[in-house]
Amino acid sequence: MGFKAKARKAKQGAGKDDGRKRRSRDLPDGEKPCAIKGCDNWADKSHGGRSIAFDNLAEVWEDEELVGESRRLQICKPHYRHYKKEKKDDESQTW
Ligand SMILES: [Zn+2]
Repeated sequence: MGFKAKARKAKQGAGKDDGRKRRSRDLPDGEKPCAIKGCDNWADKSHGGRSIAFDNLAEVWEDEELVGESRRLQICKPHYRHYKKEKKDDESQTW
């Protein structure tokens, strides 16, 4: 009798796992693309993006790597983190 109950339990468990693995994309598409050339992330606030002054971005990236002509550009979350790290390094180098 015991083995039948066991088999049923195993089946239920597998079903649950399947349902959980489909949550990789729960954010809707954004509207503002990242201003760094070649980057296809969204820079919307809902995606963790930030708006940074062009002059500040130009200290971390080359002019030709920045897409857009406004004084402030939107960049995606990973690029913002990179930007923050670079700026921090700058500050720590004031010997
Ligand atoms: Zn980016």
